[in-house]
Amino acid sequence: MSLAQSDQERHCMMNPLDHEEFRRQGHMIIDFIANYYRDIEKYPVRSQVEPGYLHKRIPENAPYNPEPIETILQDVQNHIVPGLTHWLSPYHFAYYPANASIAASLGEILCTGFNVDGFNWIASPAATELENIVMDWLGKMLELPESFLFSGNGGGVIQGTTGDAVLCTVIAARDQLLNRIGRDNIVKLVVYGSDQTHCSLHKAAKIAGIHPNNVRSVKTTKSKAFALSPDSLRSAIISDKEAGLIPLYLCATVGTTSSGAVDPVGPLCDVAEDYGIWVHIDAAYAGSACICPEFRHFIDGVECANSFSFNPHKWLLTNLDCCCLWVKDPSALVNAFSTDSEYLKNTATDSKQVVDYKDWQVPLTRRFRAIKLWLVLRSYGVVNLRNYLRRHVEMAKHFEGLIAMDKRFEVVVPRKFSLVCFRISPSARVNGCSADDEESTANELNRKLLKSLNDSGRVCMTHAIVGGIYMIRFSIGQPLTDYRHIEMAWKVVQEYTDAMLGTYLK
Ligand code: PLP
Repeated sequence: MSLAQSDQERHCMMNPLDHEEFRRQGHMIIDFIANYYRDIEKYPVRSQVEPGYLHKRIPENAPYNPEPIETILQDVQNHIVPGLTHWLSPYHFAYYPANASIAASLGEILCTGFNVDGFNWIASPAATELENIVMDWLGKMLELPESFLFSGNGGGVIQGTTGDAVLCTVIAARDQLLNRIGRDNIVKLVVYGSDQTHCSLHKAAKIAGIHPNNVRSVKTTKSKAFALSPDSLRSAIISDKEAGLIPLYLCATVGTTSSGAVDPVGPLCDVAEDYGIWVHIDAAYAGSACICPEFRHFIDGVECANSFSFNPHKWLLTNLDCCCLWVKDPSALVNAFSTDSEYLKNTATDSKQVVDYKDWQVPLTRRFRAIKLWLVLRSYGVVNLRNYLRRHVEMAKHFEGLIAMDKRFEVVVPRKFSLVCFRISPSARVNGCSADDEESTANELNRKLLKSLNDSGRVCMTHAIVGGIYMIRFSIGQPLTDYRHIEMAWKVVQEYTDAMLGTYLK
């Protein structure tokens, strides 16, 4: 180790926030990430490592002596990057996207640089007030009714994930009802979703103490595009009431995880209203699209819901993590989550003029996520955010067009946003080889196709099974994805299909 280097390390240890050292190392990390973005197409999209690979490469104990950032970054390149599945690759079409942008990345740096803990207003007034402001901005972009905005006595909060948002609203709904009818009734409470609802609802219900037998996954069908039918919901509620149970909460989804299905918000709210059920709208992925006037109709009826959430970290150019939750009645959250520790008491809270976000969430501590969202909204503006989303939807239409030209394939469910669910059709007949008409054979064929696609490292996609059909989800929404990537991905799909079935002759 050189003398200069050891001086530097000693200095770092003395002042972990030395501003010149921060500047030096910070530039190196930004350069590292910039090069990562430049080179991202070179990496296999889905990590190709075997389980336990990292244990073989990293020492068993933490270093006793400090190590320079140069060495650490070299190890990131050599040992960490190979174990990454490159979510930001333009060939990553798996799950739903996890967006990032220059604005949000730099917003994250501001958030982590200031490192304030805005659990209540006084702990950092700007953190709370900026969150109030951006949540109202975004609420207006979505044309949420005034009753969801701070300006209309509702309000929004940034949570980490939809899982948090669903948990908080289930607990708020539970306490609101039990405070009225008595806590012993908890065993009778029932929550509702469809068989397409995200498993966050099951987890939330479990944590909230809802009896495991009282979580309804109302069946959906292909003929209704896997949307929750208001009639089926009503039937489920009626039979629960006849059994002496008490309906509590409905989670309706706009853009389901498996297939992008949209539950009919307005008609479901009408049913829920008849039974006094709290309605939460989970628009984790598709909510972003609803800032475009042409997609806004998918959340029509939201004015009758109690709460609404979506994840800008999925499709609105915001780095993980960021889930926006609005409620009409913040007091339902505050009554469920407020705490009264002496050390947190202050005059601003006593004045009741401020929001203390610690009372709108499970933990006390909270990051200054609003600054990241603020940078995104200001840096891109509504116009560019809309165009960004529209372009992905147009790419999805283009991909559907490519599928339509090859009769071996079919789109399984109607596309609404930028998710295309397709498969090798059971009726594919190619050069005398046939994909057996049996659905189960088709399922096996598609499973094999997906495996070979992902093993190739050239693209990454995931699957879903709806109505017994195994389908490949092609989810467009990563910021670096362009038409050429869509076309290349389709070529890769055809290439591996050719290898399995024989070449398709026009
Ligand atoms: N809800 C829907 C409709 C989703 O698609 C997802 C994830 O893809 C989630 C909830 C879970 O979101 P989170 O990871 O933010 O909890």
